[in-house]
Amino acid sequence: MVTIKYRAEIIPENCTGCQKCVWVCPTQAIEMKDNIAVINADICLGCRNCHGVCTTDAVTRLERDEPLVIKADIEGVSKEDIEALCKKAHLHPRQWHCMCTQTRVGEVAAVVLKGATTVEELTLKTGIRSGCTAYCQMMSMRLLEAAGHELTPPPKWGWYPTTANMWDNVSQDVIEQYPGYFLEEDKDVFRKVES
Ligand code: SF4
Ligand code: SF4
Repeated sequence: MVTIKYRAEIIPENCTGCQKCVWVCPTQAIEMKDNIAVINADICLGCRNCHGVCTTDAVTRLERDEPLVIKADIEGVSKEDIEALCKKAHLHPRQWHCMCTQTRVGEVAAVVLKGATTVEELTLKTGIRSGCTAYCQMMSMRLLEAAGHELTPPPKWGWYPTTANMWDNVSQDVIEQYPGYFLEEDKDVFRKVES
């Protein structure tokens, strides 16, 4: 669950129309109108990505009238279905999906099972990617792909293929080569879900 207290707002007279903010917004809340950026406050999660890339101080931060509270709705989704999707995605349902919002993979898997089909939709329905906006994207992509969704990056987003995790890419040779890194113990956690 996340409580968003702030939202971004554009100062039109400072906006040069460069569109950089559009390309870094995790909810696609920004669009260009007459060459000026405009933010849809309803879906702004206050992450400040737009603020960070704007070189002309055209983005400011305002306190919301009412905080925006977002919590993953997992009602009605069975534990078995969540586990099955997580297994397919090679993720553990109890591992962190988004540490900034303290959301677990199983919660996001439930939202995928309830019909979310894009990374942005998952963000809006769970609040993930409202903090660092980077780490949790990989897990979102894994879950959506495991559910059979073909993912298309929004324009100008630099998406990378999902990174290796303990479950699918670390060979036994490597595990034995680095005994001090507790790889065997980590892998055991995944084996328990796998069995
Ligand atoms: S990054 Fe700044 S200048 Fe560029 S479009 Fe966005 S608000 Fe305008
Ligand atoms: S603060 Fe984040 S979510 Fe809000 S408009 Fe800027 S980039 Fe998008």
